[in-house]
Amino acid sequence: MTGQWQEQVSLKPYNTFGIDVKARYFSQARNDLHVRQALSQAQRLALPVLVIGGGSNLLLTRDIDALVLHMASQGRRVLSDDGEHVVVEAEAGEPWHPFVQWTLAQGFCGLENLSLIPGTVGAAPMQNVGAYGVEIKDVFVGLTALDRETGELRDFALADCAFGYRDSVFKRNPGRWLILRVRFALSRTLHAHLDYGPVRQRLAEQGVTEPTAQAISDAICSIRREKLPDPAELGNAGSFFKNPVVSAECVARIRAQYPGVVAYPQADGQVKLAAGWLIEQAGWKGYREGDAGVHRLQSLVLVNHGQASGAQMHALARRIQADILERFGVELEMEPNLY
Ligand code: FAD
Ligand code: NAP
Repeated sequence: MTGQWQEQVSLKPYNTFGIDVKARYFSQARNDLHVRQALSQAQRLALPVLVIGGGSNLLLTRDIDALVLHMASQGRRVLSDDGEHVVVEAEAGEPWHPFVQWTLAQGFCGLENLSLIPGTVGAAPMQNVGAYGVEIKDVFVGLTALDRETGELRDFALADCAFGYRDSVFKRNPGRWLILRVRFALSRTLHAHLDYGPVRQRLAEQGVTEPTAQAISDAICSIRREKLPDPAELGNAGSFFKNPVVSAECVARIRAQYPGVVAYPQADGQVKLAAGWLIEQAGWKGYREGDAGVHRLQSLVLVNHGQASGAQMHALARRIQADILERFGVELEMEPNLY
């Protein structure tokens, strides 16, 4: 089926929300040639193309009148190794977590805090994936992308990607760049990031006094498994809203009414609010409207209890946004990509 096109394909197995919409055409790309063939065929037919990886950051609100190109390219390799520093490269379709585990098994440190994030290597730069105090920009060396406007290959270095909080040049120019492979700088010496959330405490509970990168990864996996719904059991796309970054005055105003507000000062003087805390305070935790709901343990995660449509999920999200704006004067921005 690779390289071939199928018609009217349900995308339910291809998005972690489990939303049942159809793609007019669907194809898988296992290599650069498949990508190029699919794009030129779509151009001949004047068809838009939606590139997807693991579908873990998508909210599909309608049938997709396009070619949906599923990145399934595989391959990972060590490009350089001086005994301490290594550069590894992986193809866009490589599933992210197994890739992280492969780097750890080689003795390479750097990606351990990003364990158990769903999705693919190729989508990770899209929103500069981050967790537990590390973002891919911290270990990113470069990537190769196809410019869909010109058909040319381009290598991006770190400075070209404009990585920000859940943001990048790729996210800001949707559909322009098709990421083919990504490179990371890792090291054999661990520079541990343990001060975020309950990581240090979990390691202590596990009796780990001198953590290895693998031990940190294992601790983070165990925290995530406890706290986050497994999309195989309950449809979701992880955090549904970004944590809003607001002025110190805004936080002071909220704190006057809610002394327990969860807020993290940023280097530029602004303050990051925990969106999940705002949503929980507003009483949405565990809320359910038909099959569209808010997770019972983590208010930042919207869930599909079974048959919710993308439009229903989106309607719930909009109601939450409006409520948070009214109560706290804070705008919540959606994190998943809406189609
Ligand atoms: P998709 O959802 O398939 O696509 C996302 C976007 O990228 C779409 O716009 C798509 O068009 C585009 N895209 C995909 N592949 C390519 C490509 N090769 N070239 C160009 N564009 C492409 N995110 C975090 O940052 N941190 C977390 O800790 C985290 N935890 C999560 C936990 C759960 C349970 C879930 C369900 C999601 C979580 N996410 C997290 C969100 C998501 O997993 C990541 O953003 C992930 O990188 C998305 O990868 P994907 O392959 O599934 O992308
Ligand atoms: P958490 O530990 O309960 O923390 C709640 C929020 O507070 C997080 O969103 C986090 O922001 C922020 N935070 C916690 N400690 C912080 C610190 N020391 N400094 C600055 N900010 C801090 O969060 P969680 O939901 O269990 O998630 C744990 C990690 O996994 C977080 O980094 C989160 O972003 C990531 N995650 C992301 C997704 C996604 O879909 N994007 C899904 C699940 C988990 P940040 O989000 O900015 O880190």
